[in-house]
Amino acid sequence: MASAGEDDGIPAASGSPDASLTQDDSFTATSHAGLTYPWGEAAPGAGETIRIANGIRWARIPMPGSLGHINSWLLDDADGIAVVDTGICLTLCSDAWKALYAGALKDARITRVIGTHLHPDHIGLAGWIAKKHGVKLWMTRGEMLTARAIVADSSDSAPDEVIAQSRAAGWDEAALDAQKARGWNMFQRMIFPLPRSYVRMQDGDRLDMGAHQWRVVTGSGHSPEHACLWNEHEGVLVSGDQVLPRISSNVSVNITEPDADPLGEWLASIDKLLGVIPPDVITCPAHGEPFKGLHVRLTALRDEHRMRLYKLAEAIAETPMRAVDCFPLLFNRPIGEHNQGLATGEALAHLKRLEIEGRVRKEDRDGVWWYHGVA
Ligand SMILES: [Zn+2]
Repeated sequence: MASAGEDDGIPAASGSPDASLTQDDSFTATSHAGLTYPWGEAAPGAGETIRIANGIRWARIPMPGSLGHINSWLLDDADGIAVVDTGICLTLCSDAWKALYAGALKDARITRVIGTHLHPDHIGLAGWIAKKHGVKLWMTRGEMLTARAIVADSSDSAPDEVIAQSRAAGWDEAALDAQKARGWNMFQRMIFPLPRSYVRMQDGDRLDMGAHQWRVVTGSGHSPEHACLWNEHEGVLVSGDQVLPRISSNVSVNITEPDADPLGEWLASIDKLLGVIPPDVITCPAHGEPFKGLHVRLTALRDEHRMRLYKLAEAIAETPMRAVDCFPLLFNRPIGEHNQGLATGEALAHLKRLEIEGRVRKEDRDGVWWYHGVA
């Protein structure tokens, strides 16, 4: 259902979106060992798709920022094509869709839009595509309702509790002032208005798409209720950000749920995927190239986090630390103003996990959290 002025509300790209909202930056280079990339370095160009297996094609949507792109997966549906993930609400991304409509998707009917999770690079254009084609948005409830809540919560200055958490993590006054000045929440600006209603997906659901069946497998930690899609017959997993081949998805404590244990959820999700999905699938991630070696990658991700937890616990046993003091142990690149928010969220996630495992305890000293070893 195309409407006149279909571009309304999609801003032109100007600079990079706030990294703390794309949430996909990597802090740790990861090994490629054990993974094979059947398509090598190839990637679909503008307006093009690459066939992955029966019923699934790969499109690439360019994005600003360090990620540079998101992959969209096009699934054969009963009477057309279902779109999985969309890019940010920028003309850079909507132009890529127009190129697809004029190219590989020419004359194709779009049947539905599926969002793996709430981050703007995934659902930024979901509302636009759904509106344009008169189709529904499919998401899990945890992702949809959280997205709507975050969209509703923006302001020109950072809220007091955000500043208090940054101070507790050990930020200095200059960094706190900069955070206040930056304002709060660019999420809204990176997402085309979401439809009021959606179709709920739940863990274990089977999505019937013509000749193909896709099973919903949820994970958590990077986002509340991330949906992966698994086609057992074709041996394909659309993994979103739940499994990425080269970078480690951000796992952060957020201000909306400061007592959460996202790293615990992330590690449990890795174990779940290892138990549910066979090792020989082709994994189609949101960023990077499709690969084989899912279990190798999941095990490596788990081991990386476990190693970081171990190093952190060892260091804290020697001397009390704040979240900011953990950065050199957790990340192998400099942390500055542009990535301090993400780094803090990730450090707090590791510290929370250590607290729950009884390896550190938190002391609030004049509004700053100090972590001590537990003998
Ligand atoms: Zn994400």
